[in-house]
Amino acid sequence: MGEIGAKRWNFGANEVVEDACSQTVRDFLNLLVDNLDRNDARPVIPLGLGDPSPFPSFRTDPAAVEAVCEALRSSKFNHYPSLSGLPLTRKAVAEYLSRDLSYHISPDDVHLTVGCHQAIEILISTLAVPGANILLPRPTYPMYDSRASLSQLEIRRYDLLPENGWEVDLNAIEALADDKTVALVLINPCNPCGNVFLRQHLQKIAETASKLGILVIADEVYKDIVFGDKPFVSMAEFAEIVPVMMLGAISKRWFVPGWRFGWMVTLDPHNIMKDSGLVGSLVNVLNMSTDTTTFIQGAIPDIIGKTKEEFFSSKLGTLRECAETCYEEIKKIPCITCPYKPEGSMFTMVKLDLSMLEDISDDLEFCCKLAKEESLIILPGRAVALKNWLRITFAVELEVLRDGFVRLNNFAQRHSKKKT
Ligand SMILES: *Cc1c(COP(=O)(O)O)cnc(C)c1O
Repeated sequence: MGEIGAKRWNFGANEVVEDACSQTVRDFLNLLVDNLDRNDARPVIPLGLGDPSPFPSFRTDPAAVEAVCEALRSSKFNHYPSLSGLPLTRKAVAEYLSRDLSYHISPDDVHLTVGCHQAIEILISTLAVPGANILLPRPTYPMYDSRASLSQLEIRRYDLLPENGWEVDLNAIEALADDKTVALVLINPCNPCGNVFLRQHLQKIAETASKLGILVIADEVYKDIVFGDKPFVSMAEFAEIVPVMMLGAISKRWFVPGWRFGWMVTLDPHNIMKDSGLVGSLVNVLNMSTDTTTFIQGAIPDIIGKTKEEFFSSKLGTLRECAETCYEEIKKIPCITCPYKPEGSMFTMVKLDLSMLEDISDDLEFCCKLAKEESLIILPGRAVALKNWLRITFAVELEVLRDGFVRLNNFAQRHSKKKT
């Protein structure tokens, strides 16, 4: 065979990318899918990823579908998306977010993004100045971790405390932060823990961040997915204390993650973010990033305005039933415990008691064998930075969830230590 070109090529794998990539949920899910037994005729039960949109009970509202169709039919939204988004869309999002707040959000502070993911991408890459670090929760939403690794922004982890209803370990925040700490990320309602943070606790977080001089990134993508006793309070209420970057999307509330529409809102009444130059840099990164599609932007005022309240209340009712079923079913399985009944989001975390199991050494082995033997996908805790726990989503069709727990129960019994 003849030689082709140079003896040595100057390009290759990027180690930074490889490292960042080993932390994604998709990576773990692919591994589990590889473990599935192709000869098992039963349908796979997906309790790993929180995307209920394929299930009939979680189909989006016809009014939202009609809004998209109408935006397309009107031919008004075929042009390139304008810088920062359509004014009518930013206004609709600002009004929507202001509904439950004690003040009004200005459309100028709303930046439209390709789902909440792009808000994370843009924000993390803007914050990643050399030497900086960011405080992320444990357990985490791993997209933050991957993007921080990719941007070479150092990650420091504070704990969410299961024994305190998953509250933030505030002492840890003070101990971890230094003058290179740029931000802390708080996800409320919490993915993966399923808790909703209390107003007083949010205020303490805001005060701590303010004292330390760090930005609060409030990921509120589940802001309306709350079905327990605690009301949701937005971190936006504490913007007087600390600058807040609020992130959200239509993905979860309307069950349309494929529509890729989200936002990033700068809440900065004292112009701290603005005067520091952060807002300017953020807008510059936004301007060099891909925009959300124009017709989705065009549809947003009607998606928000015409979806009926009954749609949301009925979906919340379904999710509440799923969460309760999940919590009750977990109690029947001795080797897992759920420290806190989910009251929001689509997830719960359960702790594995490995001492009760015979031939399973950790969370990853548990999930791989579970996929192989029961065609049931559950995310190992290590994917969210909490080893030997499991993250379970309950946002699936109720019968599917029940079937999933029958399989999980059989699996647990089969692998439990036999009494001698
Ligand atoms: C789903 C999710 C996102 C991403 O939202 P998209 O709109 O689907 O991009 C961001 N943060 C958290 C905590 C999520 O659960």
